[in-house]
Amino acid sequence: MDFAFSPRSQEMRQKLQGFMDAHILPRIRQHHEETHAGQFPVSFMEDLKKLAREEGLWNMFLPSLKEDEPGTPLSNLDYAPLAEIMGRVPWSAEVFNCNAPDTGNMELLHMFATPEQREQWLEPLLNGEIRSAFAMTEPDVASSDATNITTSMRREGDEYVINGRKWFITNATHPNCKVFIVMGKTDPDADTHKQQSMIIVPRDTPGVEIVRNPTVLNHHAPEGHAEILFTNVRVPASNLLGEEGSGFALAQARLGPGRIHHCMRSIGAAELALELMVDRSQERKTFGKHLSQQGVIREWIAKSRIEIEQARLLTLKAAWMIDNVGAKAARKEISMIKVVAPALHTRVTDRAMQLFGAMGLTPDTPLADHYTWGRALRFADGPDEVHLQSIAKMELRESNRGASETYLTPPKR
Ligand SMILES: Cc1cc2nc3c(=O)[nH]c(=O)nc-3n(C[C@H](O)[C@H](O)[C@H](O)COP(=O)(O)OP(=O)(O)OC[C@H]3O[C@@H](n4cnc5c(N)ncnc54)[C@H](O)[C@@H]3O)c2cc1C
Repeated sequence: MDFAFSPRSQEMRQKLQGFMDAHILPRIRQHHEETHAGQFPVSFMEDLKKLAREEGLWNMFLPSLKEDEPGTPLSNLDYAPLAEIMGRVPWSAEVFNCNAPDTGNMELLHMFATPEQREQWLEPLLNGEIRSAFAMTEPDVASSDATNITTSMRREGDEYVINGRKWFITNATHPNCKVFIVMGKTDPDADTHKQQSMIIVPRDTPGVEIVRNPTVLNHHAPEGHAEILFTNVRVPASNLLGEEGSGFALAQARLGPGRIHHCMRSIGAAELALELMVDRSQERKTFGKHLSQQGVIREWIAKSRIEIEQARLLTLKAAWMIDNVGAKAARKEISMIKVVAPALHTRVTDRAMQLFGAMGLTPDTPLADHYTWGRALRFADGPDEVHLQSIAKMELRESNRGASETYLTPPKR
């Protein structure tokens, strides 16, 4: 087993870190000030995107990029340390066209779109000219079970007519968001997993209404986690993605690599929180000692390091499996890391907030933002409990009960 990153990954990592040092880190304050003043996207975003693309730091998340498509394809394993670097400054992923939910949508379109759909939607997304959203969750039903969704997609001649209400739709209020991939039911009478379909809905279609953009833990996200009402929204039947009735299968396909990209970024966020914790503990003194000399603080630091390394190894294993045996065979590892990484993200950030004292809760540190996003990730792409259920199901199915026969020694009767 070789724990070193490949030369390709190391080269890209250096390049990305150089870009972060030169262009992203010096703009953190400006980004904060502009977004809080209501300027979104921030004034420098398009310039930085152009520069990142010129430097080959573009679409690195998509291993299956074709030769005529823009970007630098990397394996999931090679991409992991890069996503970690981006995770330290959450808005930076957009600079490299590597931000969710666009990445998941691009993966989906890459796998299932027709040539016309690719030209209309995938190409501008790969070029970073537009943004997109993925609309599955509904306020009126428990959406962690995707078979519950009720949005109706009725075929009428050459069109589909869509009616329903969605919420928590990330990116929907981004000014450049031009398209939604919507999941709904085309045939409520079909088998449970064949009732759903996905349809591409241009943002400006009549009947699409953004109702509100709820805050998340009282944090306002300008790109939105929006509530959207679809009232008699008519789109051409050719906007169907994949086949009718394939929506559930497409949703499963979409969430493989996308899920672990979140996890990679979470590890980067936890790493940053630990670094801030270590710095601060060596500066602040209480009761005549630096915080770094207090046993309880040392324990937080040590535990954080152990937990980050554990999560990183599991994430890398999941990435390696996606690369080598495919997302389907890596389902258990993907679910495991989806439970581990967001919890790590909030736990280490929480320790850092505590160590910083009251300042840890203010916008003077990035900790409150990181905590909020880590907490949200325990829901996004499926809540912890659904993943735990899947892991347990697979574990129970795979067990052959050989251990009981071999290792138990009850008295003979
Ligand atoms: C910041 C943010 C961004 C998001 N972005 C998007 C997006 O872009 N597009 C989109 O479609 N959705 C998005 N979501 C929604 C997210 O995917 C859902 O919140 C999630 O799937 C859970 O659905 P629900 O909220 O309806 O919870 P419910 O389905 O009502 O579940 C509630 C709770 O029940 C428990 N539970 C559920 N199933 C089980 C089980 N089998 N065993 C035990 N307990 C269980 C869990 O604790 C769960 O949290 C986002 C959410 C957040 C917070």
